[in-house]
Amino acid sequence: MSQPLYRCFSDLFSEGFSVDWGIGSFLVVSHLAVLLLTPVAYVYAPEGLWKIMLLWTVVHMLVGALATTVYAHRLISHGAAKDIRLPTHAMFLCLQLFAVQGSVRRWSAQHVIHHAVDKTGQVHLDPYSATWFDTAWRNFLWSHMLTYLFNHPPSEEFDAAFDAKSHAAIVWQDRHYLPLIIIANFVFPMAVGAMLAGWLGGLCMLMASGAGFVLAQHNTWTVNSVTHMWGFKDGLWSSAKNNYVWLGPLGEGNHHADHHDHPRDFRNGFGWSGWLLDPTRYAILLLRALGLVGGLNRASRLQEAQIISHRKVRDSAAISSSSVWQQWETRLIALSEEWLAAAKAWDQTRLEHRRLKQQIKHVGSTQDEVLRELKGRLDGVRAEVQRARQHFKARKDDFFTALQDLRLANLAVG
Ligand SMILES: [Zn+2]
Ligand SMILES: [Zn+2]
Repeated sequence: MSQPLYRCFSDLFSEGFSVDWGIGSFLVVSHLAVLLLTPVAYVYAPEGLWKIMLLWTVVHMLVGALATTVYAHRLISHGAAKDIRLPTHAMFLCLQLFAVQGSVRRWSAQHVIHHAVDKTGQVHLDPYSATWFDTAWRNFLWSHMLTYLFNHPPSEEFDAAFDAKSHAAIVWQDRHYLPLIIIANFVFPMAVGAMLAGWLGGLCMLMASGAGFVLAQHNTWTVNSVTHMWGFKDGLWSSAKNNYVWLGPLGEGNHHADHHDHPRDFRNGFGWSGWLLDPTRYAILLLRALGLVGGLNRASRLQEAQIISHRKVRDSAAISSSSVWQQWETRLIALSEEWLAAAKAWDQTRLEHRRLKQQIKHVGSTQDEVLRELKGRLDGVRAEVQRARQHFKARKDDFFTALQDLRLANLAVG
């Protein structure tokens, strides 16, 4: 955990920060309006409109949140898919307008800097750092929302991350962002409301839309604040925390430290528990099934094993008494190395299997002799993959059994 950089918010002004009056006023006014006027809109809504308002808010929030986590976050910020089709860009660039969190280009540039800090250690560049201040409430307020009320000092790192997102459709959305969000979040719902129930209906639907984007904003901001402040396990190389299963429905909350340790992964977390409450992963798999994205990136078995075994060894060293750790350290590290070697071997055989399948596809049915030979080799490699998988599972079990024994040894010591 890095040392605090500032004592209080006013310290920021001497470091080049200034209040962003435009975005600041918009956020304050929209939040106050939603808090104070939405209940009034429900009271005075034309008959029956309240059901449509409620549905509009829920759908608006889900659309804004999902477009942020699937597209702006995993696909664009992290390149979780090698191939993103043009209809996918077009659809999500429209849907992301309902999040009201800045253009995809700007959002991604900020997020790339947020992750770059894990490697460079330049904590002062993290736009929504949860470690800048020496009190938890300041860190929470800053990382959750206050950061957006300030102009941050310019940096080459931000400019480079911004320029890197250069797909024509993304650039176009960034250039026209202001009129586009006005149309999507204000004109569109007001027009629908006016058609359904006159000018009062228009105003009521405007409030429903406001509630939708405010909820979508806090959905993202909770990931930025909570998952970097509290949790059961630290990330290996980052300040992110791990295993907040209850935050999974937000799209990124669950296993945020796994995400920081391997950000290009289309999944949020490793292992079977990574499947729990990861709507972003489900959505990306659906997009692949529909042919809208291809070439998903994921950590290799070796990379996953490295991250998990390093964390376990580090945590075991921290909780063990020195006498127990002296007895166990060498054995635990040896078992982790055996697990890593097995993971590497499994990755290699899987790679060979994939390569052979590609070759068979390209040869086609025109060269019978070559095809027969390749298919024969494929059977052998398939058996090797199975053996490597079993070996991997056995070495992993050995490592986790040793962890269990180490825990018991610690309990015995007291
Ligand atoms: Zn994060
Ligand atoms: Zn990320």
